[in-house]
Amino acid sequence: MTSHMNTQSTTLLIIGGGPGGYVAAIRAAQLGIATTLVETENLGGTCLNIGCIPSKALIHAAEEFAKASSYIGNSALGIAVPSATIDIAKTVQWKDGIVGKLTGGVGALLKKHKVTVIKGWASVVDGKTVDVKTADETLRISCTHLLLAAGSLPVELPFMPFGGIVISSTEALSPAVLPKKLVVVGGGYIGLELGIAYRKLGVEVSVVEAVDRVLPAYDAELTKPVAAALDRLGVNLHLGCTVLGLNAAGNGVRIKNSDGTETELAADKVLVAVGRRPRTEGWGLESLRLDMQGRSVGVDDQCRTSMRDVWAIGDLTGEPMLAHRAMAQGEMVAEIISGKRRHFQPLAMPAVCFTDPEVVVVGLSPTEAQQAGLDCIHASFPFAANGRSMTLESTDGFVRVVARRDNHLILGWQAVGCGVSELSAAFGQSIAMGATLEDVGATIHAHPTLGEAVQEAALRALGHALHV
Ligand code: FAD
Ligand code: NAD
Repeated sequence: MTSHMNTQSTTLLIIGGGPGGYVAAIRAAQLGIATTLVETENLGGTCLNIGCIPSKALIHAAEEFAKASSYIGNSALGIAVPSATIDIAKTVQWKDGIVGKLTGGVGALLKKHKVTVIKGWASVVDGKTVDVKTADETLRISCTHLLLAAGSLPVELPFMPFGGIVISSTEALSPAVLPKKLVVVGGGYIGLELGIAYRKLGVEVSVVEAVDRVLPAYDAELTKPVAAALDRLGVNLHLGCTVLGLNAAGNGVRIKNSDGTETELAADKVLVAVGRRPRTEGWGLESLRLDMQGRSVGVDDQCRTSMRDVWAIGDLTGEPMLAHRAMAQGEMVAEIISGKRRHFQPLAMPAVCFTDPEVVVVGLSPTEAQQAGLDCIHASFPFAANGRSMTLESTDGFVRVVARRDNHLILGWQAVGCGVSELSAAFGQSIAMGATLEDVGATIHAHPTLGEAVQEAALRALGHALHV
């Protein structure tokens, strides 16, 4: 490093402009903390550019196309169209337009709040000093507080690295052309969200999952309607199977079945979606010698690392790798630095899987409650008994509530069905506010809405559901 390196100083320096980093920056600036944010790519991070938002755009487009296709000839609704086509290049352009608007919006918000944004690659020198390589110089920034929000990267299979026909979600979100046959490795969030979308776009999709069921992180009853939908859609499932690698011709995937036999699945593209890992390499993190929790940066319930005034949030700190968790942690760290007393102890962390049907979990499932030694009751209300579901032609799924037996305090909600992602707000609020079954059961829910199933589940747990 030359002696005339340009230098800057700030109170809070944030590495990474994803949902964790940019929210921390906005909140810190609101609280009067001089803040600099360093981002090497686009603001918004994985979430806005190559994650949550573009995946939901593609899922929506695929759903619309499948709907249009279902009207060819005739339909129960009396709608008929002669044909349906999709121009995937145009779909990708539309998706990129949304991403551009949102990343531009984040830039505008940071500017409005007077956050200094530097486009460049940050390398940690020590807990108070970071070098940033921009397009034209290397800048040295000193800070009082350092917030690490570098996010995560897709896990690569060593025997089948990314490149050629092997792609990660990033490439799958921007297809130049649609493959004829897609093999998806991993039946988790990404594998199923994108696998279903590709199937709806007319692609032959096979999913290879190591565990013996899809979405193994969720309870089995909850994922049954998803498995049934995969069957209806014609997604080929290879459960309890291990991937061995590409075949010699490079146009297929060799897998080992649960009975030990080997099969080959033809593929134009192979989407590897076997999880994400914290991005801990390539930016000098090791120089801080922080305590790690496995592959993640270890943090306490205030997102403090093992070094004073060095903080870490979001995917860098491990599971659950969710945008809303990163944002909530970022907001909290800014508040702690400003002097507020805060801890990251959410009563419940919602998780939504945007499959068809969608899956939502907030708080404890019946099994988790039991494992925690809590005496609980639980009840489900099926969408088959909900009028709104019928008008939406989608009666699969249910809402389930879990509450303490003694005082009926609600500890968890689970739902699977069309559009249930939007119920996560009601679920989260009832838990955060300490609602009981009686509170939700006595709330007048608008008719006809899917939300009535929330009230009915609570009433059913109390033994007096009205519509089942
Ligand atoms: P990131 O969003 O990963 O941001 C980190 C940023 O840091 C990046 O922009 C990176 O360029 C930058 N950076 C890293 N190192 C440096 C450096 N040395 N110098 C400068 N900049 C650096 N979550 C949900 O909650 N809901 C969803 O529906 C959902 N869908 C998803 C779909 C897909 C396909 C994927 C891949 C993820 C999805 N996620 C979803 C997860 C979500 O995107 C992440 O949890 C979230 O983005 C994590 O935020 P973060 O701020 O921790 O990190
Ligand atoms: P994931 O952990 O959800 O699923 C990975 C799946 O791959 C698991 O079911 C696992 O059993 C399976 N698997 C692992 N190794 C395998 C192998 N060698 N062969 C076959 N199967 C194998 O991971 P993901 O789908 O890659 O998503 C990464 C992360 O991104 C998620 O954990 C989540 O935090 C985030 N994400 C969230 C959302 C959302 O909130 N809606 C959507 C997409 C991604």
